[in-house]
Amino acid sequence: MSSLLIKHCHTLVTMNAERQEIADGALLVRDNVIEQVGTTEELPQTADEVLDLGGRHVVLPGLVNTHHHFYQTLTRAIPAAQNCSLFTWLQTLYPIWANLTAEGVYISAQMTAAELIRSGCTTASDHLYLYPNDCTLDDEIRAVQDIGLRFHASRGSMSVGESQGGLPPDALVESEANILKDSQRLIEQYHDNTRHAMLRMTLAPCSPFSVSTDLMRESAALARSYTGVRLHTHLAENKSDVDYSLANFGMIPGDYAESVGWLGDDVWHAHCVQLSDDSILKFGRTGTGVAHCPCSNARLASGIAPIRKMLDHGVPVGLGVDGSASNDAGNLLYEARTAFLLARVRECNPAAMTAREVLELATLGGARVLGRDDIGAIAPGMSADLIAIDGDRPQFAGAHHDLVAALVFCPVDSVDYSFINGKKVVDRGHLTTVDLPMLVERTNKISRQMVG
Ligand code: ZN
Repeated sequence: MSSLLIKHCHTLVTMNAERQEIADGALLVRDNVIEQVGTTEELPQTADEVLDLGGRHVVLPGLVNTHHHFYQTLTRAIPAAQNCSLFTWLQTLYPIWANLTAEGVYISAQMTAAELIRSGCTTASDHLYLYPNDCTLDDEIRAVQDIGLRFHASRGSMSVGESQGGLPPDALVESEANILKDSQRLIEQYHDNTRHAMLRMTLAPCSPFSVSTDLMRESAALARSYTGVRLHTHLAENKSDVDYSLANFGMIPGDYAESVGWLGDDVWHAHCVQLSDDSILKFGRTGTGVAHCPCSNARLASGIAPIRKMLDHGVPVGLGVDGSASNDAGNLLYEARTAFLLARVRECNPAAMTAREVLELATLGGARVLGRDDIGAIAPGMSADLIAIDGDRPQFAGAHHDLVAALVFCPVDSVDYSFINGKKVVDRGHLTTVDLPMLVERTNKISRQMVG
């Protein structure tokens, strides 16, 4: 057993039931679990390891990313896909993604995890839905385990190619029998439903326009035959997505999800920009979650999701940066600021989203969407996932009246410290678990080979 004491935090944002913010805060961690939280004066003065923050840093729970496609880091800012909407963007990129290899999956996962961790993320979900060449989900899982990010891996899938009326080329889709067999193998090999688990599994058919109704139903049945395996897909991302649903299934996306058993507190859908008012009510009643990806939705001109309305109707909402080819960053602090700004734009209301509300979406909101009650808050018994940002940075000059709100109002792109499961993964701004310059070099090399 080893103990870690973090003391003299300028403000400790707990996100506990009372949403307490503790001035001159401190916390004591034993191994991977938070044991005590209070003021520096109230807590023990020593531990095996002590981090004295000198009264400068805001400390908060690690941020949770609920939607991503790590492999897309290899195809950011592709010229031909810079000014497209969703379907043409996908059709431009599919042939490039067909060149993805196992090495590309591993390196892009490490690069993306590094970028996420530097921006305050301590838990991420990723959605890998194409497996050309020698790619497997195992490569991605190994990469993320090596860097030390808490991970919800999604066995994504595409089974309806162009010749069957789907969007992806036939060469990129798999047989449904193979998808279900590999999904079961991965759950049995990796899914850990214990408290403080570092790895959990999700089944994630890519979208209604790339898989069959059967695969939606079969994936749900398979996931629900295990405890804690969740379901995830893309839904109602833009108007063309709604049109496809009406033309092919005769119903709007929310009704289609309901018809295949995809509403429930074990399901979360990415985007939901064009979710109908009636579907929002159904999501709220059933506890169906939403991964809100405002940067990607803006970049592809999909629209702005009605987050204020969703929250008012009890829909669980978390933040997602979405794939790195439609953001094109993987920065969760930026995403939180964008969510905060665009909620105000959408409603033409400066009170539509407060800084503290968006920090709550980025922590507790994401934890709920991923079905976890052991992350998202700094409280006794919670996993030791936390970040610290120095209030003496130049961008906070003149903002010390409210340093917590300043984390959102004043753009900040990285953290000074991050602990995941009790392990220090960012130390004074530097990643401790990976050689970043070498990773950048390898990412660029593979990206060049892939794009040609
Ligand atoms: Zn996505």
